[in-house]
Amino acid sequence: MKSLTRILFIRYFVTVMLILLPVAVAVIYMRSRFADAVVLAIGGLVLMGALTFVAIWARKSLERDLGEVSNALRRLVVENEIKRMPQPALKELSGLARDMEVIGSRVRRNVRLLERERDRLRTILDNIDIGIIVLGANGKTEVINPSAERLLGTTRDFALNRTFVEVHPDPSFERLVERAREESMVNEEIEISYPKRRILKATACAIKRKSGRFSGTLVAIEDVTAIRSLERARRDFVANVSHELRTPVANLRAVIESMIGAEEDSETRARFLDALDRESLRLAEIIEDLLVLSRMESDRIGMEEETFDVRRLLEEVEEEKQELASKYGIRLVFNVEEVEKPLLGDRKLIKTACLNLIDNAIKYNKPEGKVEVGLIEASDELAIVVSDEGIGIPESERTRIFERFYRVDKARSRETGGTGLGLSIVRHVAELHGGYVDLKTKEDEGSTFTLVIPRASAISQVGS
Ligand code: ADP
Repeated sequence: MKSLTRILFIRYFVTVMLILLPVAVAVIYMRSRFADAVVLAIGGLVLMGALTFVAIWARKSLERDLGEVSNALRRLVVENEIKRMPQPALKELSGLARDMEVIGSRVRRNVRLLERERDRLRTILDNIDIGIIVLGANGKTEVINPSAERLLGTTRDFALNRTFVEVHPDPSFERLVERAREESMVNEEIEISYPKRRILKATACAIKRKSGRFSGTLVAIEDVTAIRSLERARRDFVANVSHELRTPVANLRAVIESMIGAEEDSETRARFLDALDRESLRLAEIIEDLLVLSRMESDRIGMEEETFDVRRLLEEVEEEKQELASKYGIRLVFNVEEVEKPLLGDRKLIKTACLNLIDNAIKYNKPEGKVEVGLIEASDELAIVVSDEGIGIPESERTRIFERFYRVDKARSRETGGTGLGLSIVRHVAELHGGYVDLKTKEDEGSTFTLVIPRASAISQVGS
């Protein structure tokens, strides 16, 4: 391809020749003098030389200017960078240079905006709790964020360029993606067992170009396991409460109906009244335990925190439980030394927890068994230890006994007036204070429950 400067140069030269030649020929013809012809020829040559020099200079300048412009353009395309355009020697090119500078700064600004957008998007994708996967039109993974990697048990390096079914073995995802292609947006709850048993809410949405052409699928995955199990727990709880309340209410109704039809003899009347008293007490206990639980769950901030002497509290508990212990023929032994430092926490709740633990230790003990209550003080926590020589708890039931209304031996629990909520309350009290309940037990030998309360109370942290 001929360069622009060469064409300009040739054109310039030919034009000069076309002007000079006829003039020279005309002068020679008119004057026919040799001296004039020589002068004219020399003048012509000088003029031509000067013009040639100008043309070469112009060509060089044009070449240099165009070279600089093209270098700047290359930098803009390859490195996305032109800070200042070199000032062209030719006046005609300075406008072009200015335009190039403006274009360059606009391109740089747009690239910066795009980079900022990309960084924002990447931060969102990296930190969002929802798993995001983008599949191309060929169904292969193009984007996967860390949450999706975690939920599906895969890695970015493995997932990229693989289809969904290669990334996760559950075929439901692939089916969902196929449906999204036809229905635009679909969602489904998928229960997976790998890498963990989870319930995932997956939403797939077809990505379409302006022209309507399908260009891929966006899949969002949310872990709804905790929500679903909470919903299930709430449903179970309502069913359990209804069930638990139904029995004493039915008993009350039965007694009242019998009373209505019965003769007014004082012995039967006393028996009925005794039954009424027992059942209404049971109802009151269930309701009281439920209220304690719900207060702890919904009103943590309203807990009453104070510093108190735990030994004094345990002495009160001992006094209150002596009667029950003697009723069951159980020896209650308190090995509690003077405390060095008072404890910060909700005194009423900690007392309720201790009463529940000792209550159980008495009721699930063996005849003439012993219940020991101890206190261990450490610089950062305090442990109240309640051990018995009772029936113990089977290995399989150890965690379940802390669930609401869960009883190992239902008949024995009812017989002893248990509500099935005692240990659930104990665990809540411990957790509310940032502590825990430890259990050591052996069937037929006994159990030791340890309520551990840290000195830096968790209640104050919740409240602050
Ligand atoms: P309940 O009102 O039935 O005692 P809890 O929540 O206090 O309810 O206890 C749940 C179950 O755990 C009890 O029904 C009982 O089967 C078992 N359990 C609790 N404490 C003891 C213990 N010290 N020894 C043996 N079993 C126990």
